[in-house]
Amino acid sequence: MPATTLSPQVLAKYEPVIGLEVHVQLLTATKAFCGCRNHFGSEPNTNICPVCLGLPGALPVLNSKAVAFATLASLALNCEVRERSIFARKNYFYPDLPKGYQISQFDKPLAEHGWIDVPAADGKTKRIGITRLHMEEDAGKSIHDGLADSATRTNLDLNRCGTPLAEIVSDPDVRTPDEAFEYLTRLKEILLYCGVSDCNMEEGSLRCDANVSVRLKGAPEFGAKVEVKNVNSFRFIRAALEYEIERQIEVLESGGRNVQETRLWNADEGRTYLMRSKEQAHDYRYFPEPDLPPLVLTREYIQRKRAELPELPEARRARMIAEYELAQQDAFTLTAEREFADRFEAAARTARNPRRVANLLLSELGGRLKALGLEQEQSPVSMAGVVQAADLLDEGKISSRQLKQLFDVCFERGEDFAAVYEREKPRQITNTGAIEALIDEVITANPKQVEQYRGGKKTLAAFFVGQVMKATKGQANPALLNELVVKKLDG
Ligand SMILES: [Zn+2]
Repeated sequence: MPATTLSPQVLAKYEPVIGLEVHVQLLTATKAFCGCRNHFGSEPNTNICPVCLGLPGALPVLNSKAVAFATLASLALNCEVRERSIFARKNYFYPDLPKGYQISQFDKPLAEHGWIDVPAADGKTKRIGITRLHMEEDAGKSIHDGLADSATRTNLDLNRCGTPLAEIVSDPDVRTPDEAFEYLTRLKEILLYCGVSDCNMEEGSLRCDANVSVRLKGAPEFGAKVEVKNVNSFRFIRAALEYEIERQIEVLESGGRNVQETRLWNADEGRTYLMRSKEQAHDYRYFPEPDLPPLVLTREYIQRKRAELPELPEARRARMIAEYELAQQDAFTLTAEREFADRFEAAARTARNPRRVANLLLSELGGRLKALGLEQEQSPVSMAGVVQAADLLDEGKISSRQLKQLFDVCFERGEDFAAVYEREKPRQITNTGAIEALIDEVITANPKQVEQYRGGKKTLAAFFVGQVMKATKGQANPALLNELVVKKLDG
């Protein structure tokens, strides 16, 4: 059923209600309840032991690093951290869950009542509530394809069993697929800044399920919610939600009724498919985990974790916009990754003009990288190279045209700026007499512009500078040239 036939008027009658559940693997060296290595990509079934396999008599011991990471994430997401939380067994059978239950948290999760601010359509920000963040363990993996015997068997890799997870559940505050995208983007950014997860979606360290329902605008009750599972990129989540909202509205418009069910997103076809209906839904029979005591965190511990929080992306952007006079979008580019933002700021602080470093990074370097489809870390010009170029420009030792040429050489040869500059150091005309002679020629050749300048149109100085630069193939010392042009014109 193509869900694109609805008119804007029909769509406008309805309001989508969206909630997001994110599972994020914590970046601990070992698993949540045993000493097995927590590592993606190991040989199947090599990082396992009696505890994470749930063999009889094996007892779990909580990994304190997992608690530290989950607490940091909770605080970064503005949650209240509970001083006493309870682990619970979530019982279900699945081949990749040999214990027959997952250790999770149920009615007393680690943290609650947080929020993330996202940009809203009206240009303001909108606060999306976070219901809870709780700790749990991951299950193993069923491998249905890619192996020699995949046609006849499903293989199991239990390495992932017991990997520590934080599950982050939003309030049903999200109203559009775009808000969902923004929420997830910011959530991921915050988690990366805190260093608690690598958030690698391809490797499954960050996974997202979305709950979506639609109701007539102003209706007091929610519609039946559909859970969309197995979506492995934020762009796909947005597309899946767009599809689902229209599909559900179409059902209502044709006199039907939506039912609570779980659906899968098929990215190739751009649509969702029914996976299971509510009738087949699980009853997990939660009860407190008898093998683990309550998790008790002192107020001092929580305070210490709060003090460990780094400057978070939103705050950093606001500061950098003020400090480097950046546009909002440029601030996003520079802060997208904490490691890059750190390198930029460390370098910019050594430069004569930090703002110029930001500008060069965004324009000259960013433009070339984008054109070649390269990532920042693949740039031939290092951060130190950008600083050197910015300083030379600032001191008037090279013109912006020369800088462009030097950057071109860097990219052609894959060399850093320092090496290229040392070898191809542009010859500069710094001889006052020579420059003055050229300025005189330009003045003689352009009497009309001279008249306009002297009549008050001072911005025309740039025209004369440009003409002399052209005549010298960009080799006139820019600072000296600027000075002499104004002197001649005013003289
Ligand atoms: Zn283990």
